[in-house]
Amino acid sequence: MSMNTQGRSTAPEHLPALEQPTRSGNKGLAQRELLIFEIGTSRRTGVDLAEPKGIKTRLGGLERETEIGLPGLSEPQTMRHYVRLSQKNYAIDLGVYPLGSCTMKHNPRLNEKMARLPGFADIHPLQPQETVQGALALMDELSHWILQLTGTACVALSPKAGAHGELCGMMAIRARLDADGMTHKRRVLVPASAHGTNPATAVQCGFSVDEIPATKEGRVDLDALKAKLGDDVAGIMLTNPNTCGLFENDIIEIAALIHGVGGYFYCDGANFNALVGRVRPGDLGIDAMHLNLHKTFSTPHGGGGPGSGPTVLSAALAPYAPVPYVQKDGGKYSLVENAQGDSFGRMCAFHGQMGMFVRALSYMLSHGSDGLRQATQDAVLNANYIQAALSEDMSPAYGGICMHEALFDDSFLKGTGIDTLDFAKAMIDEGYHPMTMYFPLVVSGALLIEPTESESKAELDRFIDVMKFLAQRAKAGESERFKAAPIYAPLRRLDETRAARKPVLRWREQTGI
Ligand SMILES: *Cc1c(COP(=O)(O)O)cnc(C)c1O
Repeated sequence: MSMNTQGRSTAPEHLPALEQPTRSGNKGLAQRELLIFEIGTSRRTGVDLAEPKGIKTRLGGLERETEIGLPGLSEPQTMRHYVRLSQKNYAIDLGVYPLGSCTMKHNPRLNEKMARLPGFADIHPLQPQETVQGALALMDELSHWILQLTGTACVALSPKAGAHGELCGMMAIRARLDADGMTHKRRVLVPASAHGTNPATAVQCGFSVDEIPATKEGRVDLDALKAKLGDDVAGIMLTNPNTCGLFENDIIEIAALIHGVGGYFYCDGANFNALVGRVRPGDLGIDAMHLNLHKTFSTPHGGGGPGSGPTVLSAALAPYAPVPYVQKDGGKYSLVENAQGDSFGRMCAFHGQMGMFVRALSYMLSHGSDGLRQATQDAVLNANYIQAALSEDMSPAYGGICMHEALFDDSFLKGTGIDTLDFAKAMIDEGYHPMTMYFPLVVSGALLIEPTESESKAELDRFIDVMKFLAQRAKAGESERFKAAPIYAPLRRLDETRAARKPVLRWREQTGI
């Protein structure tokens, strides 16, 4: 691609030639890689040890008689296998990762350096507490920052991810209701746009879920919510900004209504990146909220973690917080390990995700309070820049200003025969990881784009240019470009329906799949 004087790429006007398969399966210098079971054999090994002599079995005749079937690889083969796989990985360090609701932001290397300090990286959760005073002090300081930013009374650091934090918050609500004898309060209101983990959490805690519809402005329908209020309402689980990327304008009234029937307000804090330093959730009447350190506070995520989902609680719920937690007595820190008083107990064996705590605090300290606020403002500005720039070629789902993510529906693709999935696959050919698709469910064929604050204007302009180009090509009827995509990815389009209906979760030698 060539660059014109404005620095925008001039995209080819012709359709890409359908790619010729190579004999080797490799493309350019990118290596095709087989499964480890296809490369390895049980007759090969990466170590060279003499056959052990004189072993007396103590298994009483229960020894394995067949081969264990693990793939044996030499050391260079192992190295190549994993390096090749790692190069197929798309990452935030490679390019724009506009997954809405996921806050895929830059992970500063300073965080990584701090997390690798031996005093944090090499400690063990069962070490005597006097030998890990620094780590406990760090957790205490992180808690302090979290309480400052959220305006709440207490934080539980132990939840391991957002969904786990939801569980923590809802267990605290359940414990408080039970302690007050409010066992008839078992209905939780959940907006239609909620992340799937919200209703799942409520059900896991023994509540029933009652869905509140959205207005055509993409916010909670206040009248519908009022109609659902009743003495059996345990609370609400609301995301703010909501999953449409919009601030819930009625949030203070919603909190008052829920409190008015003796319920509690759980806020899904996954979108806190739009609020940090601008709004304290505690001031909005929130009783419980999880933070995703791996979203808002720049600790790495994707590929299964590790995440960290500290959960803040209001004064009403604070006594029900889980153990363990850090206590400071004079200059000495200790971990409270045994549930006392009203604490609902323990959610997991150890406190941890120590590495995530270090990264998050490092991010907070290096930004300072003004820097965190700036990051929030830039995230919101970037999303609005994208929404405004694409509003003619694509179709914003709602009018007006968005928060940290821009939501489009698929009406701009109407009549083209191209759907959101096809559009996303064509983005892959252009070198962009697709945005979040088909979520939230309240919007037809949703395309949810979250640039975060870490993308520069030049990077956003390149992204916008490609999105406009694709939208225009779609409208011009170039459906082949979309239906055949991805053409340049290591694998072409998968049969997603078959993969979902008939998943093959195990490699089998007979079929080779
Ligand atoms: C990411 C997310 C969650 C769940 O967080 P995990 O850390 O993935 O468990 C919940 N709600 C919303 C809105 C999210 O974006």
